[in-house]
Amino acid sequence: MTDQRICRQCDILSKLPEDVASYAIKLFELLPMAERAEEELMQKRLSVCKECNRREQSTCLECGCYIEMRAMKKNDKCPKKKW
Ligand code: SF4
Repeated sequence: MTDQRICRQCDILSKLPEDVASYAIKLFELLPMAERAEEELMQKRLSVCKECNRREQSTCLECGCYIEMRAMKKNDKCPKKKW
């Protein structure tokens, strides 16, 4: 048994990095302003994720989410409490 949890949809999208980026931007634009993290907060979170040993490319292995999508939501939290 593995300790990695990867969302099937995320796994499919991870094979298309440029599409993932545009998908993330579209999702961000669809998020109501009240639910969006400030740019500075989002970048701070992503810098933590980029150094994290539980990240595989853009996927968080703890929750199976794309790190960009988790970081963009104001009230979201890191499953390992790193941010
Ligand atoms: S959300 Fe947390 S556990 Fe996941 S990659 Fe980022 S810092 Fe690591």
